Amino acid sequence: MRPTLIAGNWKMNGSLQSVIELVEGIKAGEAGKVKLVVCPPAVYLMKVGGMLDGTDIALGAQNVCDAQAGAYTGEISATMLKECGCEYAIVGHSERRALYQESDELVAHRFAMAVASGITPILCVGESLEERELGVTEAVVARQLDAVIEQQGIAALVQSVIAYEPVWAIGTGKVATPEQAQAVHEFIRHKLAALDQQVAERIQILYGGSMNATNAGDLLSKPDIDGGLIGGASLKAVDFLAIGQSV
Ligand code: PEP
Repeated sequence: MRPTLIAGNWKMNGSLQSVIELVEGIKAGEAGKVKLVVCPPAVYLMKVGGMLDGTDIALGAQNVCDAQAGAYTGEISATMLKECGCEYAIVGHSERRALYQESDELVAHRFAMAVASGITPILCVGESLEERELGVTEAVVARQLDAVIEQQGIAALVQSVIAYEPVWAIGTGKVATPEQAQAVHEFIRHKLAALDQQVAERIQILYGGSMNATNAGDLLSKPDIDGGLIGGASLKAVDFLAIGQSV
């Protein structure tokens, strides 16, 4: 039985004050039986990490540099993230892929840097609306996974989490049905199982895309959905905690 992971991606939202209030709200509440991860904007990682000391809530980054150190203005290395207390780092979020042209290959390098520093990458994959309508969802997800597997080997995925995030469901309020999400999660697990049965059984595959307290219970009841990567609904402590409580 895989433990349920609920990760909040705060994106570029909030202020120092609102972030402090959000962390205080999450700490004061009850998350149920799930593991919580919060991914604040990078400038708040140290602050949030300090506030989470002594709790079971883990800290995550929203991205990680594909290089270790040097002339990479604006980037943050995995080692630095580790120093801030990060246990997780999102890589390949669709906003990074679309707005900042991050390629499958670059995402695989970012993934590798996280793993090398003992940070668990949360590898985001997922198709656009156009790709879904063309019937190429599985091909797109397979390509995004293969970029990492071919570069890093299947064994590297042991130390990772996958987030299936259909792009058309992110921030749109259009959630995938539990059946649509389960079908892709099952596809991902079968694909991994063909390479390594143990990796496939152990890896947590999260769903992301307009998940909230109302729809989370049905999504998380599916056998291959092991948690959620939450955007909008992670910005209010009660909403975020309610997702955990729905398991
Ligand atoms: C996300 O950005 O990863 C996400 C799932 O956002 P939202 O929950 O707002 O759709």
